[in-house]
Amino acid sequence: ATNYNYGEALQKAIMFYEFQRSGELPDDIRNNWRGDSGLSDGSDVGLDLTGGWYDAGDHVKFNLPMAYTATMLAWSIYEAEDALRDSGQLEYLLKEIKWATDYLIKCHPSANVFYYQVGDGNADHSWWGPAEVMQMERPSFKVDLSKPGSAVTGEAAAALAAAAVIFEDIDPAYAATCIKHAKELFAFADTAKSDSGYTAANGFYSSHSGFYDELSWAGVWLYLATGETPYLTKAESYVSNWGTEPQSSTIAYKWAQSWDDKHNGAALLLAKITGKEVYKTATEMHLDYWSVGYNGSRVSYTPKGLAWLDSWGALRYATTTAFLASVYADWSGCTPSKVDTYKTFAKQQVDYALGSTGRSFVVGFGTNPSERPHHRTAHGSWADSQTTPNNHRHTIYGALVGGPGKDDSYTDDIGNYINNEIACDYNAGFVGALAKLYGEYGGNPIENFKAIEEVTDDEFFVEAGINASGNNFIEVKALINNRTGWPARMGDKLSFKYFVDITEGVNLGYSAADFTVKTNYNAGATVSNLLPWDVENNIYYVDVDFTGTKIYPGGQSAYRKEVQFRIAGPMNTNFWDNSNDFSYTDIKGVSSGKTVKTVYIPVYDAGVKVFGDEP
Ligand code: BGC
Ligand code: CA
Repeated sequence: ATNYNYGEALQKAIMFYEFQRSGELPDDIRNNWRGDSGLSDGSDVGLDLTGGWYDAGDHVKFNLPMAYTATMLAWSIYEAEDALRDSGQLEYLLKEIKWATDYLIKCHPSANVFYYQVGDGNADHSWWGPAEVMQMERPSFKVDLSKPGSAVTGEAAAALAAAAVIFEDIDPAYAATCIKHAKELFAFADTAKSDSGYTAANGFYSSHSGFYDELSWAGVWLYLATGETPYLTKAESYVSNWGTEPQSSTIAYKWAQSWDDKHNGAALLLAKITGKEVYKTATEMHLDYWSVGYNGSRVSYTPKGLAWLDSWGALRYATTTAFLASVYADWSGCTPSKVDTYKTFAKQQVDYALGSTGRSFVVGFGTNPSERPHHRTAHGSWADSQTTPNNHRHTIYGALVGGPGKDDSYTDDIGNYINNEIACDYNAGFVGALAKLYGEYGGNPIENFKAIEEVTDDEFFVEAGINASGNNFIEVKALINNRTGWPARMGDKLSFKYFVDITEGVNLGYSAADFTVKTNYNAGATVSNLLPWDVENNIYYVDVDFTGTKIYPGGQSAYRKEVQFRIAGPMNTNFWDNSNDFSYTDIKGVSSGKTVKTVYIPVYDAGVKVFGDEP
């Protein structure tokens, strides 16, 4: 069978998290299309809740999937540190995990308070634009002892404990901080045993499986981080509360490790830690069900070989289960006759994602990859629209899309968030699976790989035309545009200059002071009279200054603003001549009511020219 370039896939799958970052970005970021964003997060509650990752193709920070992602990524280091180091990707993965855990620490300002969400799902999802210029309110939501959320605080405890495990040798002080928070969060979750306060994520990331899986999972990670056996005891004590198969006491084995339910991961780690039969059985039933079948039943398979659990993000379940299968197969306690089965399963599932059906489901990787994922900032619309522009402006390398339907069908459709969204939790298990396969088969990451894109569109410009003209005047209609995308940025100090040559008036004894400038439509500019530019040559300009007006790539009426202004010579004169005016060059001949983009009307941002030419 083919081996894909697991090194490159791993490298890109990790880089994906860089594109999901919220907050103030550090200088070592490896792309030129993400900028600072969400800088006021937490200000509604007097806290700094900046940082963390945006959840998926949207910009909410949902801490249940975010913390789960951090835990899974840390788990991949715990299981495949050598592979990650050999591939050169360990340092990047550590940075990404810390990006999330730093944020989770900010979300935990005191022992029994945890902010579990920033942003409102409905408000966020109703706008299609880049993170850097979002304008909606981003409320912060917390749980506390009176309104607790044991699943989300339990998962945060797991993430911080897992981070402590991998940072222990590299940064002991940080590991100690993580442990302190993890212990407090675990105690909070364990004392409360309730999700009654976890309400803002309802319908988006509701806790379907409850919190006992998180309590076991966090207990396991705290045990691994501290060696303190009471955590192991706690973890095991909740196994009887895990979900079971209907009408039986058999531990549920037909779903998958996911942002909601971590009991499969907990069982696997408990098997490795304790060697107990109960955990081995639970894990093997689960992996059998996903591979060869258990007790006569097996997860659905697509005709082309994807183990297909659910229409929403099928590839994420398959590749995450592939990670668990790889980890378990490499453990000495795995039933020897099953080792190959599990390894083969893991490789087949990951290979499906990487290209075995003839196409890659990983953006920017392999043959015929997905190019139109449901992701606001990667699309880079300026018009709050999934159809403007036609193609994504950015390549969000390494993102695993949701994946095909049960029959392998798939369309690379920006509007389809069930099959074509990308998300932190999708890549979480995928990174681990790729690290394991890299360890086995190798592959070459691209040296010094960076996502530095060429800026392919004019980011600022003016479109102009003639509304009317006469013997002593011209009336210009002009639209100033902000279509920034590398990165998207707010324009609240934009201006442009319209240049004229008044030689014909000067020859008759008039001066600039004899001319007037009036607006008859103005969406927020201060429009000057004629100002001197090159007095010797009679060149003057109208300064049209939109400072204080927000012009940004966030919707039809946000990304461009119109102004109509009339420059007129003295009353009852007829010497006005457009033909020598610099800014008239392109608009000459444009039919009435129409506009053209022109370099002869330069644009300035805070006084610095960002587009066009000057005379
Ligand atoms: C958003 C997606 C989200 C989906 C379901 C869509 O409007 O764009 O990001 O996954 O709603 O909540
Ligand atoms: Ca759960």
